[in-house]
Amino acid sequence: MKCDPPLSAPPSLAVKPRLIRHLFLPPLVILLMIALGYVTYLYSEKNGIKALGENGERQLELHARTVESEINKYNYLPSVLELESNVSDLLNDPSPELRTKVNDYLEGLNRRSRSRAIYVLDTTGRVLATSNWRDADSYLGEDLSFRAYYQDAIRGLPGRFYGIGSTTGEPGYYLAHGLEEKGKIIGVAVIKVRLEALEERWQRARLEAFVSDENGIIILSSDPARRLKSVRPLTAEVKERLARSLQYYWWPLNELVPLERESIADGVEKLTFPANSSVDHEHTVVSYLAQTRDLADTPWHLTLLTPLEDLRREAANQGMLVAVACALVAFLLIAWNERRKVISTRLAAREALEQANNELERRITERTADLRASNERLKGQIRERRQAEETLRQAQDELVQAGKLAAIGQMSTSIAHELNQPLAALRTLSGNTVRFIERGALDIASTNLRTINDLVDRMGRITASLRAFARRGEDKGQASLGKAVAAALQLLAGRLEASALDLHQQIDDVELAIDQTRLEQILVNLIGNALDAMQAQPLPVLWLEGDLFEGRYRVRVRDNGHGIDAEARKHLFEPFFTTKPGEQGLGLGLTLSASLAAAAGGSLNAEDPAEGGTMFVLILPLVNSGAPII
Ligand code: ADP
Repeated sequence: MKCDPPLSAPPSLAVKPRLIRHLFLPPLVILLMIALGYVTYLYSEKNGIKALGENGERQLELHARTVESEINKYNYLPSVLELESNVSDLLNDPSPELRTKVNDYLEGLNRRSRSRAIYVLDTTGRVLATSNWRDADSYLGEDLSFRAYYQDAIRGLPGRFYGIGSTTGEPGYYLAHGLEEKGKIIGVAVIKVRLEALEERWQRARLEAFVSDENGIIILSSDPARRLKSVRPLTAEVKERLARSLQYYWWPLNELVPLERESIADGVEKLTFPANSSVDHEHTVVSYLAQTRDLADTPWHLTLLTPLEDLRREAANQGMLVAVACALVAFLLIAWNERRKVISTRLAAREALEQANNELERRITERTADLRASNERLKGQIRERRQAEETLRQAQDELVQAGKLAAIGQMSTSIAHELNQPLAALRTLSGNTVRFIERGALDIASTNLRTINDLVDRMGRITASLRAFARRGEDKGQASLGKAVAAALQLLAGRLEASALDLHQQIDDVELAIDQTRLEQILVNLIGNALDAMQAQPLPVLWLEGDLFEGRYRVRVRDNGHGIDAEARKHLFEPFFTTKPGEQGLGLGLTLSASLAAAAGGSLNAEDPAEGGTMFVLILPLVNSGAPII
């Protein structure tokens, strides 16, 4: 039969190396999440800073204006004193009465202008009159020539100065103006104002801001901790100079050093300070957007600090949101991809199944055609065999028939003898009987008639046996062994009697699966041969024995005749092999007997018994192996 190659799996069903994907995909997704989250964070922070910057710019402008107006609103005040004749008189001629007048005047003016103090210095820098003349720490008589504002004002420049009062130790903004008379400076008017109101305002507005002066020292701050700290590094020389000027009294002027400083634009910086642990427990550092602007008419700068924590939190939230969204999208993409793969695998599997199915169907069709052809061939062979069998059977039947006819031919002499004897007796008896009837001897006549009857019966049995022997039989059938043995012995009765043999019969009356006539034929052949072999035997003995053998029945026919020599044994079952002289033997008996036994599913063999003679063993199947044995 043709051998097809095995069905190969389609490429789509082949196992893919997924391990690499499974190993690298999760870290890749996590990396992507982190990267996107971080980029979003930076972007959001940048945008936020931009927005904060714009807002801060407006706030800075607003508060710078406020600071400027707060500072500038006192600008005019020192120059007002030029109008006051008592002041110029006092400067020209400092008398106690005038001093008292001017003191009173300054006191009133100070009260009305809500400044801290107003005082007048002579050209040497000594305080001639002051609004706080009543106070214990009054400036009266004090020499303030070392003050920068005095030094500026005496030269005709506007004196602007933020410092800590050397008498009171109180910080303040000093505005000085050189008082002129006829083009000559005769003294200096000074007004000290406090700017703490600005700080309070910032604090109320929760604004973080500070003002640094020309030295970079924070003079105003919403956070008191930053006050009087330097926003830029001070050299030892500058520190020394400032200390000597007593501008900040003896304050240490520490630097407000940020942990981190990043310049974003001109006047815009990102500063990170350590957090004030007493206020902020949550953070260790605080970052600000610092926007600085010059204040008009002063060398000062206003810096607005906008905390970046909220913005950073918001940016972190957005970053996280984007990372989560990225994870979600990645998850959806992976899920979609997996589903797509499952679907395509299913489709491929279905396609492969269909292909395999088609292939299978094709092969089935091919094989069916092959099978049909071989079936046809087999049928042809069976037909031929049946025909051969039929021919064989016919030949066999012919042979059997020929054998039978031959046997009948052989037996014809003895049959004729068998039939002639009763015929002769019948003739005599019938003639006598007629005569006895004529004489009226009816008793003797009836006795003769009974004898005639018996003779006719005997003749009928002989012819019946011959007819049964000559009849064609069937392969299948059922035979009684007892009856067959009896029939065979009956058929050969003449010869048996003539030979005066000793018969040992030990046969069970079993039902054998063979046609009755055929069994009888076999037995007649075997017993007839035995009788032939024992012709020269003075004390012929014939053994007919039977027993069960391997589920079948075994019949042994043994004689004490001349036996079979080795050469004859080779050809025993060959047709027309005979050792019998003349017309006695045809050489068909054993051939036919063996073929009849084989046709019934049995066997026939010759054995050479140790005690001499010949033994034929006939084995035949039982009709019902369970049947009781008689
Ligand atoms: P036939 O009897 O016509 O010769 P058979 O086929 O019956 O043909 O026998 C073939 C030969 O087998 C006989 O000629 C004889 O030589 C031998 N044979 C058969 N039976 C016996 C027997 N019981 N003892 C010795 N020889 C036998």
